[in-house]
Amino acid sequence: MEMLLAGAWVDRPERIEVLDPFDNSLIDTVPSATLADVEAALAAAVEGAKLARALPAFERARILAAVGRVVEERSDYFAHMIAREGSKTIREARKEVSRCVNTLRSCAEEARRIHGETIPFDNFPGGEQRRGYFERVPVGVVLAITPFNDPLNLVAHKLGPAIAAGNAVILKPATVTPLSALELTRAFVDAGLPQLTLQTLTGRGSAIGDPLVSDERVRMISFTGGVEAGRHITSRAGIKKIGMELGSNSPVIVWQDADITWAVESCVSGAFWAAGQNCIGVQRIYIHEEVFAKFRDDFVARAASYTIGDKLDEATDMGPMITEQEADRVVQWVRAATQAGAEVLTGGGHSGALVQPTVLEGVPRSAQVHCQEVFGPTVNLYSIRDEDEAIAEANSLPFGLHAALFTQNVDMAFRLANRLQCGGVMINDSTDYRLDTMPFGGIKYSGLGREGVRFSIEEMTETKVVCWLLRES
Ligand code: NAD
Repeated sequence: MEMLLAGAWVDRPERIEVLDPFDNSLIDTVPSATLADVEAALAAAVEGAKLARALPAFERARILAAVGRVVEERSDYFAHMIAREGSKTIREARKEVSRCVNTLRSCAEEARRIHGETIPFDNFPGGEQRRGYFERVPVGVVLAITPFNDPLNLVAHKLGPAIAAGNAVILKPATVTPLSALELTRAFVDAGLPQLTLQTLTGRGSAIGDPLVSDERVRMISFTGGVEAGRHITSRAGIKKIGMELGSNSPVIVWQDADITWAVESCVSGAFWAAGQNCIGVQRIYIHEEVFAKFRDDFVARAASYTIGDKLDEATDMGPMITEQEADRVVQWVRAATQAGAEVLTGGGHSGALVQPTVLEGVPRSAQVHCQEVFGPTVNLYSIRDEDEAIAEANSLPFGLHAALFTQNVDMAFRLANRLQCGGVMINDSTDYRLDTMPFGGIKYSGLGREGVRFSIEEMTETKVVCWLLRES
């Protein structure tokens, strides 16, 4: 495929191979953008921002609704694209496509309701003769950088709100999964988005990241990815808006009064969705000592029953990790944990990029699988005695995206929702729940700002005040 630069689909002699991680077969190649391409994209985006700002809301809404329809009509094509270039099974990929359609529809709706308020300037003496309002205006050029694990919907979460808000966007999709993003870009072009308002540069973040991120023509960086890249980008960005959707290490608390059958089902799905490559994936489960044995036995049996393998097979529950190298890393982390005293209850091995669903018990607090983001199909079970211990454990790490609690006790649920340090608390479901229109994001190293259509639009606009002084005639 070609990339979209300054209003034209272009190719470059150096190309990046896009491989199916299941069998390393070549799906396609994409251009590797050069530093000259970065400069051309930035110059074009400044012109694109003028065009985007001039588009009326109804036109932005029309385009976004049209893109949503294209994705819906081609959902089977998009689902296969996601399943082939990424880690998701075809069933998981279909869910991503339907979420993407909803994301785009919501962007179309929100494009019509970006508004400000009148300001009561007579709040304090001296303002009696003033009248005015504030409005939300586009930031200008948004740089969107996306990860591999949701190669379509996380791209829609950036392009949709940026365009709804009247901005120009430069998108740099994940190097390993650029194809879904390029197809979505094509849908925007086909829907009549003015040339220059959207450009998609394919290439490696390490090669073209810094000149994009540090350029002053970019007024907002909307980044989703790992903490390491997020920290690097933040240090290079200079004075501009920054939205960071980073990693986590999500805790779940299962109380003794919980519906254990449901808690197991929900947590197994939350731990192994997308082969655990999920920013809100379940990584640490703290189970009340009275129900620990039952939860553990049921959880292990369910994990061990998972069918892993070919992503395009309808019967497959879990596909491969994104690369064999990543699978190696996860298995090494598990091995290091067992050498330090952890016990593997099921899994622990890998074949190529396929890692077995892995469940650990007795994990030392110093192990990587405990204190870092694994971003793979492993989960740790811990027995806990009381509420204070559960909270201390759940809040003990420098991440805070989602946390979850299973209980029938309403008072306890409110208390823990208040005490858990994170961007979202799921009660009676695993951490792996996100509605695309809710405010989504983390605290501590999990991020800065919030996404979720309306909230992204807020981040991608500036507040501007207009104030009249009424003079006596
Ligand atoms: P990554 O950080 O390796 O890469 C993300 C993107 O950043 C890619 O497009 C990459 O090319 C680019 N990049 C890397 N270095 C860069 C640089 N110096 N300058 C500019 N761009 C650069 O992440 P990944 O492996 O693709 O995704 C996994 C990570 O993403 C996990 O940590 C996961 O938790 C996180 N994630 C977070 C959310 C969220 O909403 N909070 C959602 C999905 C994934």
